[in-house]
Order: sequence, then structure tokens, then C-alpha cells
Amino acid sequence: MRLIILGPPGAGKGTQSEFIVEHTGALHLSTGDIFRENIKNGTPLGKRAKEYMDRGALVPDEVVNDIVTDRIKSMGPEGSFLLDGFPRTVNQAVALDGALEEIGVTLDCVININVDKEALIQRIVGRRVCPTCGKSYHVTHFPPKVDGVCDDDGTQLIQRDDDQEETVRHRIDVYERQTTPLIDYYKAQDNLVDIDGNQSVQEVKDRILAALQGVQRA
Ligand code: AMP
Ligand code: ZN
Repeated sequence: MRLIILGPPGAGKGTQSEFIVEHTGALHLSTGDIFRENIKNGTPLGKRAKEYMDRGALVPDEVVNDIVTDRIKSMGPEGSFLLDGFPRTVNQAVALDGALEEIGVTLDCVININVDKEALIQRIVGRRVCPTCGKSYHVTHFPPKVDGVCDDDGTQLIQRDDDQEETVRHRIDVYERQTTPLIDYYKAQDNLVDIDGNQSVQEVKDRILAALQGVQRA
């Protein structure tokens, strides 16, 4: 399947993406994870991205677009993927459509998770991530089995640099200004599915998987 997961920072995109890829076998393509991996490895791309990420700003489209469109084109028409964190601007969505058109395919579904703004801030400030595998947890809503340690690999969990409250507020503003126009963009293409994200992780998961079954049968 060719999927996008859309939603503000803290909507649970990372967590739900894990479930979706497990269920569909799609490749999880998270631009945030790609940047964090590059920062960890000290690459030139990582250095460039970090300048923007640390202040909660978007990395410029010309840096992001080729990374994603190259991967999608290299997978070809049989490719099955879930884009998480991309596109974030209309320019990025247009670049994606260009790549899809080149390989002669279209998107199957854009999952749009909605969450109230104050809830988002609470969620992000309590978020902890595994620096080894990227899995994310929440101190109260989705805690690991053992406090502070990743369930899958035992690594000590950390708080992301850009998960401080002030940066979070800025990231939400950036989302509202630059990314919400994509909701209309994909509505116009008739493949947007709205999911109420103000629910438990399990309920949101069930709703997403139910929506995807509808798409698979269609
Ligand atoms: P995320 O993990 O998706 O919340 O992304 C973390 C940060 O990486 C964002 O706040 C941006 O600075 C940067 N980033 C990730 N994906 C994109 C994208 N598609 N366009 C621009 N910046 C991005
Ligand atoms: Zn882990």
C-alpha cells in the first residue's frame, strides 16, 4: 500500500506508524527519523537539518524532497510504504505527486489524525524515545514495561531535544501554518481519512486499521 500519515506533532504518528507497518508490511519512511539518524552519525545532511530542527523549524523543501522522492522512485510501482512526517508543505506534496506519477501509481490513503492542541503539548512533553530503534513511549499514556527502558532492546530512553515545551508550541504553530493546507489538498484528491486522535493508543489503532481495511477492499 502507499500511505501517508498526517497529524500535528504529538498526534501519535510514530506510535501508530509502528502498528500500520506491522499490519500492512509497508516500509516506514519517517523523514524525522532519517534526519535524527544523520545527526547521530554526524553527516553533512545531519548538520544542515539540525540547525532547523533544534528551533522547531522545517528543513527546507529542497533538502527534504529529493531524499523522499529518490527512495520512492527506487522502490518502483510495486513499492509499499508509509510516509510519516512527509509531506509537510504543499510544495513537498507536489514533489511527491510528481514522483508517483513518474512510476505510474497513486496514493491509497492519507490518514489524518486530529488531536486538541493542549493535549498535544502534554503528550509531547511526556514523550520518551529509544535512541537505538526509534520507538516512542509516553511517561503516563504509553509507558514501557520497565521504567525508562525500551521494551524491545533495553536501551535507556531519552527526551528529544525538540520536545521542550517552548519548541513544541512553535512546532505546532509551524504545523498549523505550513502543513494544514495539505488537508484540503488531499481532500481534493479524495483520499483523506479523518481519525479522531483524542482516544487511547489502542482505540486510535483500531480505527486506523478499520479504515485501511476499507481501502484494501475498495
Ligand atoms: P518529526 O520527527 O516528524 O516530528 O520531525 C522532527 C523535525 O524534523 C521537524 O520538526 C522538522 O524540523 C524536521 N522535519 C521532518 N520531516 C520534515 C519535512 N518533511 N520537511 C521539513 N522538515 C522536516
Ligand atoms: Zn528500542
